[in-house]
Amino acid sequence: MQKSNTYWMLTGLSLVFVLMLVFLGFLFYTALSDNLITTRTHELAKQTELAANEAQRRLNSLEEDLIYFTGVMEASSDAMIHSPANDIRTKRLLNTYAPIIKRLIIQHPGENGMIVYNLVNQDDFERIVVNDHMDFNPQTNFAVYGPNKQVRVSIHLNLQEYLSVHVRDYYIGPYGNKLLFNQNELLYLSDGGDGEVVFSAAILEQINQDIAAGLKGNYEGSFFQDGEKSQVIIAQYPFKVRQLNNQMAFIFTLEKSQIISGIYSAYFYLFGFLFLLLCIVLILLFKFSKQNATNNQMLSDASQELDRLFRQQTMLLQESNSFVYYLDQDGRYIRVSDNISSVLGYSQEEFIENVETIIKGERQEVDNEKSSQTDLPKKDNETFELDLIKKSGEVIRTKNFEKLYYTEEGEFSGRVGICTDIQDKYSAEKSLINSENTLRLVLDSLPDIIFIYDLTGVYIDYHVKEEILLLEPPQNSIGKTIMEVIPSPMNVVMMKAFERAVHTNRMQTEELELMLRSGKKTFEVRFIKLDHNKVMSLARDTTSQKLLENGLRESKDAAESASRAKSEFLANMSHEIRTPMNGLLGMIGLLSKTALNQQQKNYIQVIQDSGESLLTIIKDILDYSKIEAGKLELDLKIVNFRDQIYKIINIFSGLVNEKKIHLSLDIDNDTPRWLLLDRDKLFQILFNLVGNAVKFTPEEGDISVNIKAEAILNKNFMLYFTVKDNGIGIPLEKIPNLTEPFTQVDGSNTREYAGTGLGLAIAHKLIELMGGTLNIESAPGQGSCFSFTLFVTSAAEPIVDEVPSPSTSSLALPEEELKNLSNRYPLSILMAEDNEINIQFMNIIFGQMGYRPDLAKNGMEAVDKCRSKSYDLIFMDNQMPKMNGLEATKAIRKLPDGHRPVIIGLSANIFQEEIDKAYEAGMDDYLTKPINLNQISNKIKSSYLKNYPD
Ligand code: ADP
Repeated sequence: MQKSNTYWMLTGLSLVFVLMLVFLGFLFYTALSDNLITTRTHELAKQTELAANEAQRRLNSLEEDLIYFTGVMEASSDAMIHSPANDIRTKRLLNTYAPIIKRLIIQHPGENGMIVYNLVNQDDFERIVVNDHMDFNPQTNFAVYGPNKQVRVSIHLNLQEYLSVHVRDYYIGPYGNKLLFNQNELLYLSDGGDGEVVFSAAILEQINQDIAAGLKGNYEGSFFQDGEKSQVIIAQYPFKVRQLNNQMAFIFTLEKSQIISGIYSAYFYLFGFLFLLLCIVLILLFKFSKQNATNNQMLSDASQELDRLFRQQTMLLQESNSFVYYLDQDGRYIRVSDNISSVLGYSQEEFIENVETIIKGERQEVDNEKSSQTDLPKKDNETFELDLIKKSGEVIRTKNFEKLYYTEEGEFSGRVGICTDIQDKYSAEKSLINSENTLRLVLDSLPDIIFIYDLTGVYIDYHVKEEILLLEPPQNSIGKTIMEVIPSPMNVVMMKAFERAVHTNRMQTEELELMLRSGKKTFEVRFIKLDHNKVMSLARDTTSQKLLENGLRESKDAAESASRAKSEFLANMSHEIRTPMNGLLGMIGLLSKTALNQQQKNYIQVIQDSGESLLTIIKDILDYSKIEAGKLELDLKIVNFRDQIYKIINIFSGLVNEKKIHLSLDIDNDTPRWLLLDRDKLFQILFNLVGNAVKFTPEEGDISVNIKAEAILNKNFMLYFTVKDNGIGIPLEKIPNLTEPFTQVDGSNTREYAGTGLGLAIAHKLIELMGGTLNIESAPGQGSCFSFTLFVTSAAEPIVDEVPSPSTSSLALPEEELKNLSNRYPLSILMAEDNEINIQFMNIIFGQMGYRPDLAKNGMEAVDKCRSKSYDLIFMDNQMPKMNGLEATKAIRKLPDGHRPVIIGLSANIFQEEIDKAYEAGMDDYLTKPINLNQISNKIKSSYLKNYPD
């Protein structure tokens, strides 16, 4: 920025300077040329005047000499011719006026003829006697008469030639012209001057007037020569030849341009020189300014650097909590820097005055040079630590660095030092030493075998209590590496763990088995990186723990496999019981529709009830075993909470009415309408709890169901459920076990209330699964209160309301319609079932609807049948010999036409994963046994619509 400013300033200045120079040059030039013209005009006039005067004088003297000559002339021609005196006089006259007098003619009036003299050379003339008269041109000749007119001497003048020679003596420069004005005629006098000479008319007129008046004159004007025009200065000076009586004048001219042409070149060189000078000056100036700028920049940089260093130093002192001090040669403090107050709290003066009391104790040399100054007279510096008492009374540790000075003679002259407050570091180090000591104590007391290594795995220290657990005495390991001390192949494993600990900075644990003299031992070795150059290993003897763990693992594995076996057993058992039960109940259903008497009907009703309660028991057992096996998962759906609760309560309305029980339901208004929860599981929990309350409450008792909601965060709510009755109650000691399966208060065979003792166990497990706890409060004879909490999330109303699943909906067809089903929905049906009772039952049902399904007794048969015939609908039992239902479904789906039939799986197994597997295998739907007529008819109907949508 600075640089470019200077540059532009210099350029501007140069321009101004050039302009001024041009202007001054112009003025100077004008003045000089004016002056030159004036001078030259003056000179020209002078020369003209001199020439004219001289010409005048010569002509006058010619006239006078001629008169004298004439006066002494002999009276006759003859006398003249014979007079030697006359010859001498004539020769002298002719010689004297040689160029002017062209010819001299002498006539005697009384004589006939005349004598003519012509000058031949210097001392010689020719004399011709002419017997004739001659007329004279009065312009060029003039005549002088002697006394009494007896002789007339006339001369023929050679004026132009004479004057041409005459004016040569008057120098007017190379570009001048010398002219003669004679009788209104202009004649060139200069060499080579000929041709017409023309002045502009105005000048010519002025010249004419001046000459006519006998005036000299100076003029300026145009001059035409050989057709070329030039500006000239003109000087005119008149003279006359009296005898001729004609007015003459010299006119000298000088070309103006030629006068000043010299100045041009002089000016050109002057300007050139000045310009060169200017350029040199500018270059020098530029260089100088550049140099100056560089110097300035360097100076400013240097001063900034100095400033920065100074500031840094000050900051450093402040940051490092230091102050500077000076000591004289006697060790007396003579000066301290002002920031001592921020370090110690004293002013500079206070410190210097009280320094003896401020220093506490001896100084602690930091370096190894403990020798005193006298021992090492040329010591350069010293570092030591010193305790100082602050103004506040606090003692701080300081670190002092002193630079020692000497005179030229080597005499110690004083020192300057920096004193830094290192109390924090000192305390930290002290506490580190303390903690290191503590650590050492702790390490020593640890039962673990501790080794310390450097980062390459070399043993550098140890803390060992029982050397019996080592391969060799610990001191033998020092200096060796892990690879050397631990036998192969464990050394590689240990080394890898060691390196992992070094690189990751995290503890690495590895198991080490060693064959010691005391037997095979197992150690758990942990490698811990202590700091940037140490690693510690802690080895613990885990031999006995390992043995215990092995034992436990075996028993855990045994327990787990037992549990798996139990689950499998339960699943299989349920299938085995459900399948015949399915047939049994189906047959009973059919039997009840035949003509029976009242007693028979009653018996059948009992069988039917027993069968159904047996199924409920099986379902409960299955549920519980599923929960136990951890196979139950939450199936969250958005439900209308209030509606669901009403539905559950409604189920018990018949019984409640029968027992005249007073049941109240109270749902907190704050409960959100739409909640995200597992409806079926909540249903099951409440079904069990409300069912128990109804069961264990005598007639006209009270049951209250309360639901409260508490908002937690955003959309989350805690629901508090309470089911309270004033029934028979439960003894206190029985309560803790009620959630165990198959537990009842009255376990005797003769108990009053039916049940399996699984309801509460299932409810308890389900509540836990849903994130809540079941709490039971009860007193015999007073009633019971079952409460639990559930954690739920409120939800927006779903776009489609819950659609009841077809299996639960009552799509029962009227009996008449059932009979004609095969006519309305003609389908080819295949039934794959191995159980004889079920086959009979299904055949009766299909028969009632007018169908005659084909039968396959195992999966293979089913696939074969599908190959030879195209079915619309297949009822496929899952568990069949040779090939099960799932495999058969997969095989059918792979057949060319196998994608077409609707395949409905049948199984006593109600595990969700079984159902999922069925869909995966390619089944369209799934029915859980026992199945009934309605379910079958609905499936027929829906599959017909699927096969023949029109
Ligand atoms: P159960 O099928 O026997 O009802 P539960 O697990 O549901 O099995 O109940 C276990 C036992 O807990 C019952 O047999 C009964 O003795 C006792 N019990 C459960 N609910 C109540 C109640 N509301 N009042 C009194 N006793 C109850």
